[in-house]
This record gives sequence, C-alpha cells and structure tokens, in this order.
Amino acid sequence: MADAGGAFELSRVGRVAVLGAGPAGSVLAATLARIGHETHLYEKDDFPRDKLCGEFLSSEARSLLSRIGVWSEVAALQPVDIRRARFTSPGGRALELSLPSSGLGLSRWAFDSVLFSHAVRAGAHPHLRSDVRRVTRDVGGFLVAGADFEHPADLVVSAYGRKARLDHAFERAFVERAHPYLGFKQHHRPKAGEHGQRLAEELAGFVEIHGVDGGYCGMSFIEGGRINVCMLLEEGFFRGLAERSMPSILAELGMRNPALAVRLSALEPDGSEPLSVAQLSFETKERAKDDMLFLGDAAGMIAPLAGNGQAMAMESALLLAALIDERGVPRSATERSRLAWSWRVQWERKYRARIELGRRLQALLLRRTASDRALTLLAKTPFVAGALVRLTRSGVRRETSNA
Ligand SMILES: Cc1cc2nc3c(=O)[nH]c(=O)nc-3n(C[C@H](O)[C@H](O)[C@H](O)COP(=O)(O)OP(=O)(O)OC[C@H]3O[C@@H](n4cnc5c(N)ncnc54)[C@H](O)[C@@H]3O)c2cc1C
Repeated sequence: MADAGGAFELSRVGRVAVLGAGPAGSVLAATLARIGHETHLYEKDDFPRDKLCGEFLSSEARSLLSRIGVWSEVAALQPVDIRRARFTSPGGRALELSLPSSGLGLSRWAFDSVLFSHAVRAGAHPHLRSDVRRVTRDVGGFLVAGADFEHPADLVVSAYGRKARLDHAFERAFVERAHPYLGFKQHHRPKAGEHGQRLAEELAGFVEIHGVDGGYCGMSFIEGGRINVCMLLEEGFFRGLAERSMPSILAELGMRNPALAVRLSALEPDGSEPLSVAQLSFETKERAKDDMLFLGDAAGMIAPLAGNGQAMAMESALLLAALIDERGVPRSATERSRLAWSWRVQWERKYRARIELGRRLQALLLRRTASDRALTLLAKTPFVAGALVRLTRSGVRRETSNA
C-alpha cells in the first residue's frame, strides 16, 4: 500500500512480536491479531500469576473492557464495585470523595489471565515461559531471542512493564540512575470479630490511600472477600527499620499514620505470599528506541496513586494498534523510523501531562506536612479534588450500560 505521498510501499500485514503479556501486551496482541497481523505474544511467566499492583481498575479501565470485548468475562469474576475514595494523612486529616464513576477491585491473578486468553482467542500466537533476553537487528527486521528460541519479526513492541532485564540490554537511559521507590503488596482478610467486621463495613465500596512520611499505603476489596494492601515507599522510609519483612513494614506504617494503624489492626494476611519490587522509576522513558516501540509501563509509568496504570496500558495499546492499522507494519528502516516518530508524538500528546500531574500529587502525599496541608485544603474544596482525579484520567466514557 502506498502512503499518502505515494513514497513508501507499506505492507498492510506483517509479523509483530509483543514482549510481555500484561494488560498492554495482551490488548495490543489481541487487536493486532484480529486485524490480521501474525502476532506473537511472549511472556516470561505462566498464567495465572500474581503481580504487584493496587488492583484497582478505574472507571476508564472498566469502560475499555467493554470496548475490548472482555467485559462479560471480567464481570463473571465478581470484581468489587468501588465508588468512593478515602485519603488520610499522618497528622489525622481525612478526605472522602466520590469517584467520577465507579471502578473495580479485581486481582491481577484473575484479570491478566482473562486478557491473555482473549489475545489467544483473537489469534495471537502465545509463547508462555518465554523470557525474551535479546532483540537484534536482522536484514529487514528483528530477531527476538530467549534461552531456547530465536524468531524473526518485522516489528517489535516492548510491553514488558515497569522494569525488566531487557532495559539493560536495550541500554535505556533510566536504568543508569538509582530510583528510591519500592513497592509491596499482600492480600489480607478482615480478622474475625467486631473489629474486622467494622473494617469490612467501612471499606466496602471505597479505595483508601493512607499517607505516611516517606510513602503511602492503599487498600481496597478484591473478589473473594479479600483486601489488597499495597504500598509505595521511599528508601528513606526504611532508615532505622531492622528488617524489610512485611510485618515490620506494616508495624512501621501503623506508627506513622493513626488511621492506618486502626485499619491494619483489623486485618490479617490471607496466606498469600507478599510481593515486592525495588527501583521503581517514574521518570520519562523512551517511547521508541532503535525502531522498537515501547508500550504501557515500559513507555512510562503513572504514579500508582492515580490508580490508572492498567487503564493507560490498555488504552495506549488500542492507540498503538490503530496507528499500526493505519500505517501497516513497516518493512524498511525508513518506515520503522516514521512509525516510531509518530508513536512518540501520539504518546506525548496523550500521556505526558497526566504522568507529570500524577508525579506531583504523589510527591505531596509522600511528605507529612505537605499531605496534611493538601488534605485540609482539598477537604474544603471538594470540586478541586474531583477535578484533580479527573485530570489523571483520559475522559474515556462508559460505553455500555453493563460496564
Ligand atoms: C505499587 C503499585 C501500585 C499500583 N496500583 C495500581 C492500581 O491500583 N491500579 C492501576 O490501574 N494500576 C496500578 N499500578 C500500575 C499498574 O500495575 C501498571 O501500570 C500496569 O501493570 C502496566 O501494565 P503493563 O502491561 O504495561 O505491564 P505489566 O503489567 O508489568 O506486564 C508486563 C508483563 O511483561 C512480562 N515480562 C517482563 N519481562 C519480560 C521478558 N523479558 N520477556 C517476556 N515477558 C516479560 C511480565 O512478566 C509481565 O507479565 C500500580 C503500580 C505499582 C508499582
């Protein structure tokens, strides 16, 4: 197919390698496979698998699920409806607000499996337990390789998440710097008895974010009556802490925020393993490098506080799929560079401001005095609080009545 200027011969369909089967990779693979591209979806793990995340799906995510065609499968998992948010600060300030429209609490164990299966049903070729270790340039394309495979591809899209060994292999700039953020998560249940029951009643329908000096801890119900407790902490939080085990982290969090202490005293782990990740980066990353495209968290991560990372991952996958559909899979170096340039522009336009705002709001919550002041101010001006929530969103509307 000739482009608008008639200068390039673009092949409409081609062989696309998608690295990583999180929300971004699975949604991209499903959409490209449906268009007719030979799409290979590589995932280092198997499904189902757990993932460090707050497990809150924003209303945008909910709306996207209908667009992608998986709403009924997600609804069958009995996710929890979340309509309101509650914030507390170390100094005892609190803010409650209604979300622009309701979100969902759903484990990544269940959610990512649905999206992956959807991609396979759409025609994507699955490569599970396939840790991609190298991507090299081949005549006219790429070679995607792991320990026991090497496959050619016309186009490579890296959707391998916030941080991966491949970032080093690709010599991405952000891996050269130290990043002071760590993430932790563990599923809990309300304790038996009155205290646990009160917690269950107060948390029902809410996502809570409790600020502490040097971090914040979020919690909300997910399917099966479980509560996901997830936190983002700065390195400084651990100063003076004897160990980095979940019990000692939770004890320290409770000491730094009285409202959180009340919550934590009514919870107990449900037997699942805690998860952790270090060196989280909220810095600007390359959206394209050496003609490879980056998607989802691999392109840039919004502060977890916004609760919108999964929606952004899926939405940006649809955006990139539309771009590839419009241009066709590139077959020459010039075409690849042009596609990479267009992707950078589209990504910047859509996400840069939102990511920057998320980073600034997160910075406020991480400091005791700033978060006390911010919550006092926002409690007096709830319309400003609502507007800030909306600004971290895309404005995607709910498309069906059941979504
Ligand atoms: C503490 C914390 C809390 C969060 N809370 C929320 C929240 O409540 N709501 C929300 O919407 N977002 C939240 N997020 C953000 C959200 O988790 C991400 O934005 C989202 O997972 C991004 O999806 P993704 O598909 O880009 O990457 P991922 O979900 O990370 O998926 C990447 C996939 O690539 C695979 N992979 C990695 N390397 C390779 C390789 N070399 N070869 C093959 N496969 C590979 C991984 O195994 C993984 O399955 C949170 C993030 C953090 C850190």
